[in-house]
Amino acid sequence: MAYAPTRWSLGELYPSFASPELQAAFDNVEEQVMSFEGVRDKLNPDIDASQFMEIVRVSEETARIINKIYAFTGLSFNSDTQDQIAQTYMARVQQFAAQMQNRILFFSLWWKELDDLNAERLMNAAGDYRYYLEEMRHFKPHTLSEAEEKIINIKDVTGAAALNTLYDAITNRYVFKLEVDGETKELTRGQLTAYVQGPDAELRAKAYQELYRVYGADGLILGQMYQTLLRDWSNENVDLRKFASPISTRNLQNDIPDEAVDALLEVASKNAKIFQRYFKLKARQLGVNKLRRYDIYAPIANSDKKFEYDAATKMVFDSFRSFDPQLAEMAQRVFDQNHVDSEVRKGKRDGAFCWSVLPDMTPYVLLNYQGRARDVATMAHELGHAIHAMLASHHNTFTFHSSLPLAETASTFGEMMLTEKLLAEEKDESVRRDILFKQIDDAYATIIRQSYFALFEKQAHDMVQKNASVNDLSAAYMENLKEQFGDSVELSDEFQWEWVSIPHIYHTPFYVYAYAFGQLLVFSLYQQFKAEGDVFKPKYLKILSAGGSEAPAKILADAGIDIRSARFWQGGFDVLDKLVSELERL
Ligand SMILES: [Zn+2]
Repeated sequence: MAYAPTRWSLGELYPSFASPELQAAFDNVEEQVMSFEGVRDKLNPDIDASQFMEIVRVSEETARIINKIYAFTGLSFNSDTQDQIAQTYMARVQQFAAQMQNRILFFSLWWKELDDLNAERLMNAAGDYRYYLEEMRHFKPHTLSEAEEKIINIKDVTGAAALNTLYDAITNRYVFKLEVDGETKELTRGQLTAYVQGPDAELRAKAYQELYRVYGADGLILGQMYQTLLRDWSNENVDLRKFASPISTRNLQNDIPDEAVDALLEVASKNAKIFQRYFKLKARQLGVNKLRRYDIYAPIANSDKKFEYDAATKMVFDSFRSFDPQLAEMAQRVFDQNHVDSEVRKGKRDGAFCWSVLPDMTPYVLLNYQGRARDVATMAHELGHAIHAMLASHHNTFTFHSSLPLAETASTFGEMMLTEKLLAEEKDESVRRDILFKQIDDAYATIIRQSYFALFEKQAHDMVQKNASVNDLSAAYMENLKEQFGDSVELSDEFQWEWVSIPHIYHTPFYVYAYAFGQLLVFSLYQQFKAEGDVFKPKYLKILSAGGSEAPAKILADAGIDIRSARFWQGGFDVLDKLVSELERL
């Protein structure tokens, strides 16, 4: 069967916004919540374990329907961000979920307050739900009263969540103008990015200038939205919930010790020099004295090699199959069930993601496929995510999702398998060299770039508390870039607006370090795979199939990895150091 770029079918969720099925789902949740409110009186410290587990399972049933409603609305919105109905439903669903969550909030509050002995007794009977229950209790010291928690939930709908929807609505409608071969084109951000990574040096510069001209024109407003979100984050998490610092909130949600994240970021900034060496090497390859910031993703060879969509899918399946046939079967299922939205359309969200709705449902994947080698890599990446969720499908709705730091494991590993396949099949030396350089480009983009985003976020949270202006933040961002690039890259002023163009730092503060975490982890795992061969495979599949059913540190400790140690993180950089040295000798 030949595959072609498609729009996905969301029919497995609901037929449409107007369908009776979707309305019934809302009603169903309300009924379930109403009956759940009846268990309030049954909660006491000596509650019978089987009765307790029955309550947990009922709450899972409700969570399943809410996940489906959320997914249908979110996926519809992402496939057309200008669709008014989807926009309206986004707000409605957020409000609905917050209201329902508020009505069943008493359960998690009771659970967090319960004495350790009884909690342990109930967790021992919880089987696959154990880690979910344990993790909730981590938040005990940061939990407020029921009334306060309810107010925060309701106020978030029209507060932080609304600001984020607005940020998306404003930035997704941006049109970028670029003159190509004497003709002015109107482009989406994704289409513009193709020129940023293209072979034409002048177009690269013009594309970046246009990107930050457009963002910069709204810079003060987007920056103000960011300041507001950071104040909200700090008011809630530091002042009210008493987290030690803004980043500690994310660390506890990721269930990663603060020391492990500190070790990662510290080792990353020490190793920025590896990439500075790389950028100097890249300048020599491109025949220039010094790389401009515009050039860091420039291809080394002038190869416009395009990959037909069908050929790309086959390459991805083949590379997965060479590791384990079941991985290829899973990837293929995502396509065969029409859960992939891969065509480029105006109003569709840029970039790519994978959305896993329920353990027993094939995940949905969004791509904007344009035929470049990068697009094939992205396809492998997002399908890696899908496979990760599918391998964990034996867990429950609360534990099948891996936590953020492990969430990029299968995706980056998938990309590396694909790269290896590309290298094995490519006979043209210049294309091979291009692939090798791209691998380091990507490592830069996921490790150092994201680590420096996280370092910027730490600084920005601090500065906003001290009443910094938007311009102060832009200045701090430029300093951050100077430290990152040293004397290896020439920076121009428009990059002061880069930070307002990064959705992650708005939507999910401190998300970004998970990319660096995942990629360094994968370098280390891939080294093990090369050294051990088949022996490694079950170990790796075990990490993936654990999903989110254990703490990340525990899942990795079982595979012999200590994430608190600087030496472990340095090991990932040592692999990169070696790769760059090899390129320097070419
Ligand atoms: Zn990813």
